[in-house]
Amino acid sequence: MNEPCDHKYVHYDTTKQKDDRHFGVTTWKRVDFFFCEKCLDEQRKEKTDNTWERPDWY
Ligand SMILES: [Zn+2]
Repeated sequence: MNEPCDHKYVHYDTTKQKDDRHFGVTTWKRVDFFFCEKCLDEQRKEKTDNTWERPDWY
């Protein structure tokens, strides 16, 4: 028996990076980490943006 898991992901970590080496624009990067509390499968979701102002999600 190997039933498919109806994953239930739980957020467990967030990392943020900010790169403003380039004049006038900043690269914002956020990575959220999740794991399924049933089978322990891991997922990550990345967001990046190049803007002058901080994005809402950062
Ligand atoms: Zn699962």
